[in-house]
Amino acid sequence: MSYQQLYINGQWLSPKNGQTFSSIDPSNEQEIAQVAAASVEDAELAVQAARQAFDQTDWANQPKQRAAYLRAIAQEIRNQLDALAELEVRDNGKPLPEAVWDIQDAAGCFDFYADLAEQLDPNHEENIPLADERFNSVVRKEAVGVACAIIPWNYPLLMAAWKVAPALAAGCTLILKPAEATSLTAIELGRIAEKVGLPAGVLNIVTGIGSEIGPYLTAHPEIDKVAFTGSVPVGKQIMQSAAHNVKNLSLELGGKSAFIIFSDSDLDAAVEWIMFGIFWNQGQVCSATSRVLVQQEIYPELLQRLSAAAQKIKIGNGLDAGVKLGPLVNAKQYQQVMQAIRQGQADGVQLLSGGQRPAHLPQGYYVEPTIFVDVPLEHPLWTDEIFGPVVAIRAFQHEQEAIQLANNSIFGLAGAVMSKDLTRCQRVARKLRAGIIWINCSQPTFTEAPWGGYKQSGIGRELGIWGLENYLEIKQITSYSSDQPWGWYTS
Ligand code: NAD
Repeated sequence: MSYQQLYINGQWLSPKNGQTFSSIDPSNEQEIAQVAAASVEDAELAVQAARQAFDQTDWANQPKQRAAYLRAIAQEIRNQLDALAELEVRDNGKPLPEAVWDIQDAAGCFDFYADLAEQLDPNHEENIPLADERFNSVVRKEAVGVACAIIPWNYPLLMAAWKVAPALAAGCTLILKPAEATSLTAIELGRIAEKVGLPAGVLNIVTGIGSEIGPYLTAHPEIDKVAFTGSVPVGKQIMQSAAHNVKNLSLELGGKSAFIIFSDSDLDAAVEWIMFGIFWNQGQVCSATSRVLVQQEIYPELLQRLSAAAQKIKIGNGLDAGVKLGPLVNAKQYQQVMQAIRQGQADGVQLLSGGQRPAHLPQGYYVEPTIFVDVPLEHPLWTDEIFGPVVAIRAFQHEQEAIQLANNSIFGLAGAVMSKDLTRCQRVARKLRAGIIWINCSQPTFTEAPWGGYKQSGIGRELGIWGLENYLEIKQITSYSSDQPWGWYTS
């Protein structure tokens, strides 16, 4: 299958400058595909196609038809579940069962927004009671226009679905720019769009180097909205770029989420959720609970159990049976994570387990599940997002201290709390300054519920009805309905 063309205006086009880049299988460091590297000329074609589809067709006024396309995309994703999941593993490295979840969730996301699109009535207008009865106001919602979605590599098809499905449901047209490390399933999504007959220009898929075409797209005057998921530094650049023409902007950025474990917790459950919270998807998860706060009474026992369990995790090629930890996505990510580990060791932070490439895997971007303990509060292992299978743990004495430590971060994407005392869990959940809080678990994510962060973790919410509203403008239409002259000039 070729990945050397861009999907623009319903057609497959080679990049104007003929450039491609390599996509690497991170389990063996071998190239799996050459991918089209769009130039700004190609990006411009995509913008014009999306603009035309929005301005010159009836797409924005046909929610029922949009719902039918979204449902057809969901069905086609399900039809191709096995192939898409395997492709995701080869491109990203994640274990196959996790890739299967992702693809199923992506299909579920298209179905969910198909339901919401079906409920949209383009003629629906809400009357707003006004104190001044000479006026009558109605409010309606309309698609924002042309959107540009820029996504990361950790959940390639799922992150595409989180943006493409609500944008199309809302009546926007779209340019999707996948991460260069993992473009392949996004291109497959283009083939699926073509197969279900999505009108030309409604969804355009432009693969390429973010730093080359990203600034062009995010500053483009004919793009109305930018929806970005990725790192904080790139998010800041995009804010600046989008400021040129004051674009509607939503940002889903990084995190360093805290998991508070109280001493009455079930230790087996604590070990399970701590590990899931930081080791699934190799810890390359924006909401990973990468800072763990454990109440002093159970600290030694929990550390001992956690370390023993982490050392039993099966590491290897994500396609091999029983593997729970695959390789990191690419050489850059591997080097960054290893650098953070080496820095921690050089600074004398206590390494409880892991910290190495597994001895039996000389090739591929593998890192052992890594646990640092008693991590100083000012150390980068405690403050910075590492985006790998590396957890930083500290003890705490009492509830207030745990809340204060958890909230002491520039990020505020997620948080988790574990205790048998559910009143305490609910109380702590309300004190944590983050957009997503888990009680007695970490990471489960639902298409129906809002997703997004406080502080530097982002702006706006995806998923649920909030995800749809991300792509809708609110318009008031106010009429003067009195027989009396207004009188500003005449009286
Ligand atoms: P990244 O910021 O390096 O890249 C994200 C995307 O931005 C890619 O498609 C890239 O090509 C593009 N890009 C790069 N430079 C650009 C520029 N100047 N202008 C426009 N686009 C540009 O992030 P990443 O390494 O792909 O992903 C990891 C980061 O994403 C982590 O920080 C993680 O926390 C975050 N993330 C957040 C969420 C969330 O929901 N909050 C979800 C997944 C990942």
